[in-house]
Amino acid sequence: MTPDFETQLRAVSLRVTRPRLAVLAALRDHPHVDTDTVIALVRADQPTVSHQAVYDVLRALTDAGLVRRIQPAGATARYECRVGDNHHHVVCRSCGAIADVDCAVGHAPCLTASDDHGFDVDEAEVVYWGTCPGCATARTAQPTQRTAQ
Ligand SMILES: [Zn+2]
Ligand SMILES: [Zn+2]
Repeated sequence: MTPDFETQLRAVSLRVTRPRLAVLAALRDHPHVDTDTVIALVRADQPTVSHQAVYDVLRALTDAGLVRRIQPAGATARYECRVGDNHHHVVCRSCGAIADVDCAVGHAPCLTASDDHGFDVDEAEVVYWGTCPGCATARTAQPTQRTAQ
């Protein structure tokens, strides 16, 4: 299914512009990338777009709810256009790779606080930390390489 970005932009009363379409397309193809990567992806296609324009587009799209900003502890902010489904993330401690994890319970706030302190809780943000398959393989491969030297 190809999401229709023009329809999405109009639905939130944002004007359809080439930089906005380019940012949404970049995030569809490369989820969980940081601002610098978004800029590089957009400028590969539209070299005249300024850094500031991409910052502005990211802010406008995030404010409008078309883009979600995530920021795992100790990492730079990442962006994705998979929004509104309360999904979570698994983050590699070693290389920072991020993958989507579907909502643990299936509906927001997903996890019920043992004590909500009277707050009306509507979202639970869960980050699973671990080692990605690539880093796990590299780690187990290292001792063998040393023996071979
Ligand atoms: Zn990793
Ligand atoms: Zn995600």
